[in-house]
Amino acid sequence: MGDKQIRPIRPGSEGVAPDGYDVVVVGAGAAGLNAALVLTRARRRVAVVDSGRPRNAPAAQLRGFLSRDGMAPAALLAVGREEVAGYGGDLIDAEVERIEPLPDTAVGPGLPDAGAPGSDLPRPGASGFRVRLAGGPVLRARRVVVATGLSDGLPELPGLAERWGRDVLHCPYCHGYEVRDRPLGVLGTHPGAVQQALLVRQWSADVVFLPHTVEPSEADLARLAARGVRVVEGPVERVLVEDDRLSGVRLADGRVVPREAVFVFPHMAPRDAPLFGLACERDAQGWVTTDGTGRTSVPGVWAAGNVADPRAQVVTAAGAGAAAAFAINHDLVDEEVERALAAATAPAPVSASTATAAVPQ
Ligand SMILES: Cc1cc2nc3c(=O)[nH]c(=O)nc-3n(C[C@H](O)[C@H](O)[C@H](O)COP(=O)(O)OP(=O)(O)OC[C@H]3O[C@@H](n4cnc5c(N)ncnc54)[C@H](O)[C@@H]3O)c2cc1C
Repeated sequence: MGDKQIRPIRPGSEGVAPDGYDVVVVGAGAAGLNAALVLTRARRRVAVVDSGRPRNAPAAQLRGFLSRDGMAPAALLAVGREEVAGYGGDLIDAEVERIEPLPDTAVGPGLPDAGAPGSDLPRPGASGFRVRLAGGPVLRARRVVVATGLSDGLPELPGLAERWGRDVLHCPYCHGYEVRDRPLGVLGTHPGAVQQALLVRQWSADVVFLPHTVEPSEADLARLAARGVRVVEGPVERVLVEDDRLSGVRLADGRVVPREAVFVFPHMAPRDAPLFGLACERDAQGWVTTDGTGRTSVPGVWAAGNVADPRAQVVTAAGAGAAAAFAINHDLVDEEVERALAAATAPAPVSASTATAAVPQ
């Protein structure tokens, strides 16, 4: 690997690669960086643009990723960035505002007539894209990967947001082992909360379900009782903290339930603003739909990681990025073969002297 510097992009410039990129990856979390790693190793010209807000930033440790278990989330991304830069990728710290399809004009260093107006040889896939960054810079790309993650909307409850990722938790696979055998609470703000309580019980025998805004059915209550989960009814007023540790929850009627950690079900929404101009197909819940490789319904656009799959963990987000990269590289190879074939079978251009001779004087 080389020691390529990570270059900042100048506001107002036309991008660090004047003739465009093969691929612009939006988002440098696990999904985006793994896509970029595979693509740079496939000798593609790649830029990764990132706004520096990975989803798991509030957590001290990353769990459940073979060989990375216990690593700081930021440390994983720092290694990934270094690897991508080492293979020649450009890392750009910026927010992508929009991705716009180009008119039918090919771009990219891999093409003989890159960026030439009127270069409209038939080819599969999209024509390429303009990636608009906040502050004005524009990057051009033949393909784009959107790996911008999701946002976790937390219930409005005093004290909750401040403890997010520390002792207010959502995913027992990420944090359950670290709070095993402790007094745990599960806050009901979501239809999936009963299921979450049944699951969290796997990690501790002392689990209290606080239905709060959820009304458990008789069947739910029977299931909770069968699993040994206690139910404390009544609206919750706030989360209590002592010495920088969660100590319990207080209900509106003043009762306090001592707890050391509380699980909640956040409202997850894709952070997919860059895709708004592209009319990608979405499912009934508004998530962009993809095939098994992350390919969206818009040719040339892939989506990988949490932006397309709310269930993706870090390891699966990284895998989705890699899968997208393989598919994109194949797509680019197909395009290049098509163009080379078209160029080989095109009639030879008429030279100036022949043309002159052929024209009657
Ligand atoms: C508190 C917490 C703890 C977690 N702990 C674990 C754990 O221990 N183990 C585990 O496997 N999973 C864990 N997760 C889940 C984990 O965060 C996700 O699986 C993972 O982050 C998904 O990776 P991603 O690349 O899809 O998205 P992200 O990691 O969120 O990365 C997306 C990147 O895109 C950037 N971005 C967004 N919009 C734009 C834009 N318009 N322009 C430019 N850049 C943009 C963001 O700034 C961000 O850097 C945890 C989640 C939370 C909330």
